[in-house]
Amino acid sequence: MVNEQQGAGRYAPSPSGELHLGNLRTALVAWLLARSTGRRFLMRIEDLDRARDAGTAAAQLADLRAIGIDWDGEPVLQTERGAAHDAAIARLDAAGLVYECTCTRRDILAAPTAPHAPPGAYPGTCRDRTPAERAAARGEIAPRQPALRLRAPAAMSSLSFDDLVLGQVTGDIDDLVLRRGDGTVAYNLAVVVDDDAMGVDQIVRGDDLAPSTPRQILLQQLLGLRTPPDVAYAHVPLVLGPTGARLAKRDGAVTLRQLAESGTDAAAVLSTLAESLGIASRGERVTAEQLIARFDPTELPREPWVWLAE
Ligand code: GLU
Repeated sequence: MVNEQQGAGRYAPSPSGELHLGNLRTALVAWLLARSTGRRFLMRIEDLDRARDAGTAAAQLADLRAIGIDWDGEPVLQTERGAAHDAAIARLDAAGLVYECTCTRRDILAAPTAPHAPPGAYPGTCRDRTPAERAAARGEIAPRQPALRLRAPAAMSSLSFDDLVLGQVTGDIDDLVLRRGDGTVAYNLAVVVDDDAMGVDQIVRGDDLAPSTPRQILLQQLLGLRTPPDVAYAHVPLVLGPTGARLAKRDGAVTLRQLAESGTDAAAVLSTLAESLGIASRGERVTAEQLIARFDPTELPREPWVWLAE
């Protein structure tokens, strides 16, 4: 039986390819933060876009295990959570907070921005349609289906939260997409619903996702789910390649498989990741378990780690 009191951290990879050093490092931080605070650690495969890519997910899990990361229970597959996602959208709809949107990306770019709206925000074209206008707009895009958007509170254009790594973060909120026209549930909705259902109260992920967090917190509030300060966020700086750009495949050996081919085993990778976090000395052989006692979240590096292949 799951002990909800205990709280949980998680790692939530999208099965879009092999994990690279940046992903492994973020997963290690998530695991260390959960384990060093007595939490469960859960795994979720974010396969909404890639339901058929089971092989990639299995390879990712094997790599995480190889550096010593373990998790409680079976990984949750996001594609099996459809009923909960639908129920959350239905609740928002019942509260009058959902509307159909027939805009294409091009329509959105071409529309004049509403005054006071954050840059790039949805301009609200479909927000206040009458039933007749809505039916006409649906007819125009058939057989394509409309997307569903959140009717965000008009008085609210930004929201702030405290991040364990970044400090106070303020980000824009707008009428975000809840379900795309192709029927796929949007990441922001799925992540909020699934984290809450899994009892997750500690979210560690790459800092490229920090701008999405205010939108997710808004959804938590509107759905009556656990929200900060009862959920902690830590957005970890990305790993950069030698050119100073985000680490990529062209930067040489960046996955466990590639590194093994060039003679660096998983234990050596763990050692390098631990060194980058300031909790192991160069070349020191450590186990993930040993790192738990050394880990101090207040000491987490706030700068990106630059990976220079040797
Ligand atoms: N699935 C996302 C990714 O792999 C992470 C989502 C999250 O941690 O909230 O980038």
